[in-house]
Amino acid sequence: MEKLLNYINGELVEPKKGEYFDNIEPATGKVYSLIPDSDIDDVNAATAAAKAAFPIWSRMSIQERSDILLRVAKLIGERQEELAQAESRDNGKPLKLARTADIPRAQANFHFYATGILHYASESHSMGDLAINYTLRQPIGIAGCISPWNLPLYLFSWKIAPALAAGNTVVAKPSEVTPYTAYLLSKICIDAGMPKGVLNIVHGLGPKAGAAIIEHNDIPMISFTGGTATGEWIARTAAPKFKKLSLELGGKNPNIIFADCDFEDMMKTTVHSSFANQGQICLCGSRILVERPIYEKFKDEFVKRVKALKVGNPKDNVNLGAVVSKPHMEKVLSYVELARDEGGTVLTGGKRAEVGGEFSEGYFLEPTIIEGLSHTCRTNQEEIFGPVVTIMPFDTDEEALMMANSTKYGLASTVWTSNLKRAHTIARELHTGIVWINCWLLRDLRTPFGGVKSSGVGREGGFEALQFFTEPKNVCVKY
Ligand code: NDP
Repeated sequence: MEKLLNYINGELVEPKKGEYFDNIEPATGKVYSLIPDSDIDDVNAATAAAKAAFPIWSRMSIQERSDILLRVAKLIGERQEELAQAESRDNGKPLKLARTADIPRAQANFHFYATGILHYASESHSMGDLAINYTLRQPIGIAGCISPWNLPLYLFSWKIAPALAAGNTVVAKPSEVTPYTAYLLSKICIDAGMPKGVLNIVHGLGPKAGAAIIEHNDIPMISFTGGTATGEWIARTAAPKFKKLSLELGGKNPNIIFADCDFEDMMKTTVHSSFANQGQICLCGSRILVERPIYEKFKDEFVKRVKALKVGNPKDNVNLGAVVSKPHMEKVLSYVELARDEGGTVLTGGKRAEVGGEFSEGYFLEPTIIEGLSHTCRTNQEEIFGPVVTIMPFDTDEEALMMANSTKYGLASTVWTSNLKRAHTIARELHTGIVWINCWLLRDLRTPFGGVKSSGVGREGGFEALQFFTEPKNVCVKY
């Protein structure tokens, strides 16, 4: 059985205690590799390596740092097929999604920040004839980066690339559920000539290896993407140590559909925004609000198209693969039961999908649509993070906004309308960090990315991430 290894001080190493746990392929339910069960000792070794590397890396010329990160990006591109196959196997997602979205985006993340750092400048504030202030934005030290399982290499690299580009060294942990592409990234970093200790990747369990990163006194900043409950614990733990925190957390995103929208465009995108990656994208629109005049038409067409989606072997030309793990599948199914208890009607889906053959034990779920629920019930308030959406009618703009803003989350929202005034007004009033008008997940990496309320603190993307990973210092010079 293949053993994954930690990447510490430029080398692939076994966990210090020599302990491993199983890595399961979601499509078959079978163990196919072993993951280091790292603990504080491994995190201490990674942190020591990162600390030793920091003075050299942070003082290296920007051009040199950029060149190394560009080499990483190039190698990700050259190994795209191997990485896509690994991502699909580890996560259960359709191979074509890994090929067209996950891995190209991971490459783009490195490329974007390798070049972005060359354009990153700081401000100056003139005091006329008296003095000049300038803002020195300096790398901070060691960044702790922790990422989830839904878009494994995509989100892992979204943190690591800006942290490194800004001149920090990194101790990172991917999700224990999907560690494989992070392991391949360590090999890529070795081949790209990344100096030792600059990036360190420790595999293991969140509450053990992850917590050791959060608590480590030599790690002054944490960039975390994951669930809101974990984010709360991280915030509580990091606050007394005054660590800099960036938290990208859960969502319960509204998809608001007005009767005056381009119906076909909306329908095509809504099928995608509901069920892409088995609904396991923090940005998926899980609460679909439809203006009453088109509610029945929407419902009939949406159910028809969702019934036609293909679920199965991720390597085939399917729309949905497997969800990431057995506990996650059971959690999603328990929400369908909850929805029924709360008075909802399952219009399609609601159970495991039978795939058969070598996939009979895989974690496949039918895409599920539920109607008849109040916007205040638990099904409509809690994040399910699977292929389950609810549909609800509304009558006025005010009612749509009230329902959209009624959860504790505030990550992203989507609005479908051809009325320009309404589009801008609704966008202004939505309590979310991102609003897509007549589109979904159209991403420009320069834009601020993140949520409000329980969806997180801080922003990633563009120069926002470079600002997070640097400390501004005011230097005032009297003439
Ligand atoms: P978790 O919060 O369970 O885990 C996220 C990461 O944190 C994993 O690497 C996990 O490790 C680690 N972790 C768990 N406990 C601790 C701890 N005590 N200390 C340090 N690290 C810990 O989230 P999921 O992996 O289940 O991811 C799904 C969640 O991520 C959803 O809520 C989703 O909305 C959110 N998400 C948010 C995004 C955003 O940009 N806002 C984007 C994508 C997802 P391990 O897996 O090994 O336990």
